[in-house]
Amino acid sequence: MLQQVNGHGSGSAAHSGESLREDLKELLGGEVPPQQLNDLTKVNPVTLETVLRCLQARYMADTFYTNAGCTLVAMNPFKPVPQLYSPELMREYHAASQPQTLKPHIFTVGEQTYRNVKSLIEPVNQSVVVSGESGAGKTWTSRCLMKFYAVVAASPMSWESHKVAERIEQRILNSNPVMEAFGNACTLRNSNSSRFGKFIQLQLNGAQQMTGAAVQTYLLEKTRVACQAPSERNFHIFYQIYKGAHAEERVRWRLPEGAAFSWLPHPERTLEGLWLGFLYRGLFRGDQGGHASFGHRCPHPEQHLSGSVGTSALLLGLPEDHLLETLQIRTIRAGRGQQVFQKPCSQAECNTRRDCLAKLVYARLFDWLVSVINSSICAAPDSWTTFIGLLDVYGFESFPNNSLEQLCINYANEKLQQHFVAHYLRAQQEEYAMEGLAWSFVSYQDNQPCLDLIEGSPVSICSLINEECRLNRPSSAAQLQTRIESALTGHPRLGRDRLSPEPSFIVLHYAGPVRYRTAGLVEKNKDPVPPELTSLLQQSQDPLLKVLFPADPEDKSPEEPSGQNRAPVLTVVSKFKASLEQLLQVLHGTTPHYIRCIKPNSQAQAQIFHREEVLSQLEACGLVETIHISAAGFPIRVSHRNFMERYQLLRRLRPAITPSPHGPCPDGGRSECPPCTEPATLQGLLQEILHTLPAPLHCGRTK
Ligand code: ATP
Ligand code: MG
Repeated sequence: MLQQVNGHGSGSAAHSGESLREDLKELLGGEVPPQQLNDLTKVNPVTLETVLRCLQARYMADTFYTNAGCTLVAMNPFKPVPQLYSPELMREYHAASQPQTLKPHIFTVGEQTYRNVKSLIEPVNQSVVVSGESGAGKTWTSRCLMKFYAVVAASPMSWESHKVAERIEQRILNSNPVMEAFGNACTLRNSNSSRFGKFIQLQLNGAQQMTGAAVQTYLLEKTRVACQAPSERNFHIFYQIYKGAHAEERVRWRLPEGAAFSWLPHPERTLEGLWLGFLYRGLFRGDQGGHASFGHRCPHPEQHLSGSVGTSALLLGLPEDHLLETLQIRTIRAGRGQQVFQKPCSQAECNTRRDCLAKLVYARLFDWLVSVINSSICAAPDSWTTFIGLLDVYGFESFPNNSLEQLCINYANEKLQQHFVAHYLRAQQEEYAMEGLAWSFVSYQDNQPCLDLIEGSPVSICSLINEECRLNRPSSAAQLQTRIESALTGHPRLGRDRLSPEPSFIVLHYAGPVRYRTAGLVEKNKDPVPPELTSLLQQSQDPLLKVLFPADPEDKSPEEPSGQNRAPVLTVVSKFKASLEQLLQVLHGTTPHYIRCIKPNSQAQAQIFHREEVLSQLEACGLVETIHISAAGFPIRVSHRNFMERYQLLRRLRPAITPSPHGPCPDGGRSECPPCTEPATLQGLLQEILHTLPAPLHCGRTK
């Protein structure tokens, strides 16, 4: 029995098979067929404790996937389990007549979505929303699903690329490592943490073959280029370039062996480089008036800092003096005539401008990369009809220090949780009530109040931060804290950490409380880009920078207003909010499927199950409520129109079920009933269907 319970696991569990068996027997009150243990709706009674114990027993027995009604719970194995993701297993799930009867797996979800796309019952676009906290396995899961579709929906054609025939699905898969190199980084919670959100639409033609894909990304954490939290690292790409560059490239890119770069922390792990990062405090040394002056050298000659301006200028394809001047002197337009003034920057301002330059280049590079990937994988509009969307956004985060990045990330997670609540927990129950079905309402944690606190109108945290940006007034961290507290006083999801040494506020998110520092929030939200920096980069002689910063006078991004005729400031938060709303609109047009990734421990260790940590994740995503509703609810929901289209033939059975107003059919439905011209029995209907079928081939036998 145990092997069957264990699913695809290798069976190298610390828990012995016997103990799992005992655990489950006790949990379920007797000998239970293994297939029942695959679904948490079969656990009796359904409580946090019993669900937790079931998941723990399965995890320790290397069984990582468990159904929980409409969602799939995916525990992170934190170790390679290759047999769980083999192409053979993918084909097995694909070939199964009823994949849901196989052991729970992400391939069941994959196959379900794939079948739904062509289903006669509900042929709509599908989406898979993969959620979970940072390090829980969302990106891994999305990648595996993409591989699954690449196998089951292989394209009919191959593309010519660099003289090598390449299938489109391979191209789509190949885009993953590129995007992860530029968009992922090592954080405290995950050594390969996604620092951007990603929604990929896998495009299918009428024959259900993958003909292309389109990637949409959300809010890259570009601040990481110039500033990393203690023990965290910069984006992988820098480290990879440093490690992978060959001798000639090292010379060209000025990457000497053994150099240490301030923007690439943790030399004990790798030694990597980014030359602009050398232009730091020492270089912009303040003079007596607090202004930075030209030509100062970095105080660490042993780290080649003295050449950092020249090297940066060289790599950026700019004249050295022009670069330095732009970083050190601010151009101000004032007065009616828009006269131009120049003002030397303070040391701190110089550093900010340098960071801004690096962020600007990196953000445009990332966007360009995404557009190049899209142009290489996106199918022509007439070559696809439906899509399966995979959503992998950064997981919920709570660090000792949280800022605008975490606010946006957690806001996105709140939105997705709300989508789940609205789509499943609320809408389904409301529908039952509306249709007069016997139903006792299952209460659940609705996170709408938290969303109201973050984005609601007229007053919310976002609106208050935006207001500060709009007014453009000097505002201290303490003032912002006071404004938030007084405007939103008494809000049930707003908390205050009275012991906090710095101005902050607490948001009681669905996944737990997070303390946000108010210092720097407004500035980050404005994300100002001095126009001089953009025009500087427009003068670059570097071929790639020429593409990223076309020298078009019309090419002014909205965050670069100058003078009095400035356009309304589009803040980071408002842009993010708009892109999230767009995403949710797309999701609403699909049939969603949910995968909840759970992190069994925060040390990223195999075979360790921290009950407290898992418990808080189960609580946060409302898993027990989901199980209750799934267990008591109806398994299939089909719109009336689609149901009628699919089964209208059966309407003709009505006289057999309901007495016909014309009385009983005179010949038992074998021929057409004259008064109602409908066959009156199932037999009659079947005969009619048989008549419409093509004649059988003559088998050649004679009586
Ligand atoms: P973030 O929100 O920070 O991006 P995430 O949820 O995307 O986190 P992943 O990067 O997918 O997390 O997973 C973290 C790590 O866990 C992976 O790098 C991998 O080592 C391990 N992991 C996740 N899922 C699996 C799996 N199914 N099998 C083996 N290892 C896994
Ligand atoms: Mg990720």
